[in-house]
Amino acid sequence: MKRTRWIVMITMLVGLALLISGSVVKAAVTPFGRNRWPRARVTYVIRGSAYDRRVFQTAIAAWNATGKFRFVAGSNANHQVTLMTSRAMTGLYYRLAGITFTTSPKAGYFSRARVLLLTRNLTKYHYSYWDQVHVAEHELGHVMGLNHSRAPLSVMRADNRYNGISHGDQTAVKLRYQLPVGER
Ligand SMILES: [Zn+2]
Repeated sequence: MKRTRWIVMITMLVGLALLISGSVVKAAVTPFGRNRWPRARVTYVIRGSAYDRRVFQTAIAAWNATGKFRFVAGSNANHQVTLMTSRAMTGLYYRLAGITFTTSPKAGYFSRARVLLLTRNLTKYHYSYWDQVHVAEHELGHVMGLNHSRAPLSVMRADNRYNGISHGDQTAVKLRYQLPVGER
């Protein structure tokens, strides 16, 4: 009788612990949308100066190192993602550091994406090399399907400049590519 009670109580404690850890993990996961690429892998090309290319390459290396998604160098004739810069500062680009456009003609699958680093704003607001890498990491997050996060350490904060890729960002990419298109 006493033994049974202990087992019940231990089971309840384990259940409670799982519930708490589950909610903590859930709260830290970066939000993501319903769209995704068919595979957790895309081909890219980079257009820009040697400096801009290094910024993008460093951001790509950081995401590839997570093992959750793979950016693979494509060719001019054959690629899914274009990484480039723009000197625009007006209209939509006013005060933005970077912007990402995605195209998804088929039910929820991305087919193309284009990332612009807005170099004149990066210069105007004195973004360091690593600040720019963080902006590129953020935009690549959008390319994979991540949305903005309010988590203090997320690379997907709308105004991110100082954060690299967080555990919650990595988990979001993993989940996005475990779940079918249209689900989140
Ligand atoms: Zn953003």
